[in-house]
Amino acid sequence: MKTVLITGASRGIGEACARIFGEKGWKVYLNCRNNVQMLEELQKDIPESVVLPFDVSDKKAVHHTLNDLHIDCLVNNAGISLFSPFDAVTDEQENALYGTNLFGVLNCSRAVLPGMIRRKSGCIINISSMWGETGGSCEVDYSAAKGAVIAFTKALAKEVGPSDIRVNCVCPGVIDTDMNAHLSVADVNALVEEIPLERLGRAEDVAEAVYFLASEKASYITGAVLDVNGGII
Ligand code: NDP
Repeated sequence: MKTVLITGASRGIGEACARIFGEKGWKVYLNCRNNVQMLEELQKDIPESVVLPFDVSDKKAVHHTLNDLHIDCLVNNAGISLFSPFDAVTDEQENALYGTNLFGVLNCSRAVLPGMIRRKSGCIINISSMWGETGGSCEVDYSAAKGAVIAFTKALAKEVGPSDIRVNCVCPGVIDTDMNAHLSVADVNALVEEIPLERLGRAEDVAEAVYFLASEKASYITGAVLDVNGGII
């Protein structure tokens, strides 16, 4: 049975990914930092699943938890958003933002890669963002971290390709999850007007793309950046 670790699986895109991998018969390691109860609820719906709470930004905790695990696929999904003018961002906000969205990706990848390299097989799928491609006003640190995740994907894909490990990236547009729950109806309507497919994305839209990249059907795809954004950029 193949195994997948999904960070940030307690809700939103991560939860949707967990459900799809579970339906396809994978053993699913479910991670989040805070809402462990939500993972335990999700675990009831996925027969082969294990709850693994840790903070992806905590390198020691990541390595301690993942060291001995056999992970065939890592989905680096955990993330937080930050909407603020660049010069008003506090040190604490900056540390949390890069710690989760960038260093979390590096920490989890470093922890699972030795096993993948030993077995000469595996795949990593990173969840970036359209803002990592275009840059977003008042989301400068978020855009910078997500842009770095794209560059990380491309570079690591080149480095570990000879070990038969694929590394790809998905860039969602505006997805209807808790991350966007603060938007007013007027904000949502204004966004939808800019989206050629005339709707927000669903967590499942992103999860299907992630599953495709993990599957054998994508066996010749690595270093790719797959937009799932309704055509907004
Ligand atoms: P949600 O806010 O719905 O979920 C975020 C998940 O990440 C939760 O499970 C949360 O768990 C987890 N998480 C946050 N910080 C940590 C941490 N330090 N360690 C472990 N887990 C953590 O977000 P989405 O589902 O919308 O977003 C998922 C990914 O997609 C993120 O990387 C986001 O940046 C990206 N994205 C989202 C878009 C959108 O429009 N929604 C657009 C583009 C990209 P808990 O709080 O329970 O610990």
